[in-house]
Amino acid sequence: MTTDAPLDEIVAPCSPRSGARLALRPISIGRARVTGGYWARWQRDNRAVTTPHALRWLEKDGVLDNFRRLVDSSVTAERRGWVFCDSDLYKVLEGIGWDLSRGPSAELSAFVAHSVALLEQVQGDDGYLNTFVQAGLEQRYANLTRGHELYCAGHLIQAGIALTRTTGDESLLAIGRRFADHLVAEFGDGRRGDTDGHPEIETALVELYRHTRERDYLDLAKQLIDVRGHGVIGAGPFGPAYFQDTVPVRDQHTVVGHAVRALYLLAGVVDVYLETGEDALLHAAQSQWRSMVAEKTYLTGAVGSRFEGEAFGDRFELPPDLSYGETCASIAGIMLSWRLLLATGDGAYADLIERILYNAFSGSTSVSRDGFCYVNPLQRRSPRPAAPAGGKPLRTDAPGTRAEWFDVACCPPNIMRTIASLDGYLATTDDHGIQLHLYTPSSVHTELAAGEVAVSVATEYPEDGVIAVTVERSITQPWTLSLRVPSWCHRPALIVAGEHVPVERDARGYVVVERVWAPGDVVVLDLPMPARVTAAHPAVDAVRGQVAIERGPVVFCLESVGGELDLDTVELLVGGDLRVERDEELFGGTTVVRLDGRLRDDSAWQGVGWSDVSEIPASSGRPQEVTAIPYRLWANRGPSTMRVWVPAAHTG
Ligand SMILES: [Zn+2]
Repeated sequence: MTTDAPLDEIVAPCSPRSGARLALRPISIGRARVTGGYWARWQRDNRAVTTPHALRWLEKDGVLDNFRRLVDSSVTAERRGWVFCDSDLYKVLEGIGWDLSRGPSAELSAFVAHSVALLEQVQGDDGYLNTFVQAGLEQRYANLTRGHELYCAGHLIQAGIALTRTTGDESLLAIGRRFADHLVAEFGDGRRGDTDGHPEIETALVELYRHTRERDYLDLAKQLIDVRGHGVIGAGPFGPAYFQDTVPVRDQHTVVGHAVRALYLLAGVVDVYLETGEDALLHAAQSQWRSMVAEKTYLTGAVGSRFEGEAFGDRFELPPDLSYGETCASIAGIMLSWRLLLATGDGAYADLIERILYNAFSGSTSVSRDGFCYVNPLQRRSPRPAAPAGGKPLRTDAPGTRAEWFDVACCPPNIMRTIASLDGYLATTDDHGIQLHLYTPSSVHTELAAGEVAVSVATEYPEDGVIAVTVERSITQPWTLSLRVPSWCHRPALIVAGEHVPVERDARGYVVVERVWAPGDVVVLDLPMPARVTAAHPAVDAVRGQVAIERGPVVFCLESVGGELDLDTVELLVGGDLRVERDEELFGGTTVVRLDGRLRDDSAWQGVGWSDVSEIPASSGRPQEVTAIPYRLWANRGPSTMRVWVPAAHTG
């Protein structure tokens, strides 16, 4: 193996090498830190509620027993679960790994030690590790179409990297690395010309290269990207496009197929670009990202509109009621957008990360943090039965409330690892200063050539758009503080050290202030957040003539619990008042928007589903004030109806 020069490792899920093609450099978790507010509460709950909940489900589901039964004859249970369920454990371990950056936990460390001891025993002498194959249910690499062997290996590697970076404990990573060495021996240097049906290994191998500096891992990641798109995976039940295996990635200009697969692949593509500098990879990822945002992304940031194949649909195929929007696809969108942000410095990528985080991603999880959506619709036409207590519905069931767990349990551990590592997405650095991308109470330290600089952020964001950044440490030379101005904000204001200054948003969407800073200097960025009315692209047939309510980065919805409001007939009077209020009764206090609407009278349509346009019954209705709540809070009060897009009222 060849070894490149050492690097300063950044404690984050994506830590490109110094000298890589980075417009912006990530900042280590710990040096960038969420210190309060919405995300800090969720991070606390992630440890206190979600993690023990997940550990119970790993036992209940047999995920751990699948390993134990291979080395302990007293465990007589048959192997249970899907072919890929080893990854449930690995993603939980990754979440614990990032979470341990926040402080020690004897319980979590004990679980890690137990898991590592078990995995060491199960792993073959040659590094192979997979409970489905080792149970004798399949031959090694005989069914790459569906087998998920490399996918699971990728999650194992990422878990090992997380634990190593936050605790210094390399025992799990050693297991992952032995598996990676096995993969290099089996697949590397073109020894095989095929690849796994589910991407994930690519980004993991690049991260392993970043950690170990072993070039073979990067080369294998690139090889697995190169072979895809040439029909090497097989058709499976949904055809090769489901696997992104019909068009080579460098020639593809839109996102197709299974949404999580497509976006994990592109995250790996940008990772390989960041280390090799092959522009064609960056351009392909940018082009696919642009197409996704322009034509295949829901207002909430969710992607993948089709239930069949959990897949991207055609251009503008974005039905709100039949939307799939898998939680993992939202997370994959964050992973991809973050890597593109690092590569280019373009704030549009941070805008999408924020849209996903506060809407599709936040809506995936119950306010109690122990219930989850796999499918994230933008409309629920009739209340569905609540998720069964103690049960795990099929992913396609989309019950009326969030489920404790799922038959396919990919999403909850993915949420855990994202929340636990969120500090790494707040800010970046470059040779000139600090860039703040997400606004939440936080602290950010970084080292510039002339010394260390640090800021702290105080804000009620996203409830309020005032962001106060205080310089905590500085140097004698000037440096830049760059603050993202979200694309939804039209009249930002800026006060630097007590003086109003004009806001000039640069081409990347940031206001950049360069000066000699002194500790105690304060910059206030004010992003006014009136509620606003949003329309969709006219080609999105499913919501033409409808509007949605947004405020700041938050998408709102109408929800009717117990049938008090018929959401099939509600219309909004566009141009009416949008009254932003605080409802202290709702979920311990939340912002709501009260709107003038009306309930349409459809009685003239009784028994008729269509009409000659010249004979459409005159539209009438009675005034009705309606209340919009943040979309992320829906389905927390029992089965309900809900809609994000609402017809604009027409008077006839
Ligand atoms: Zn998932």
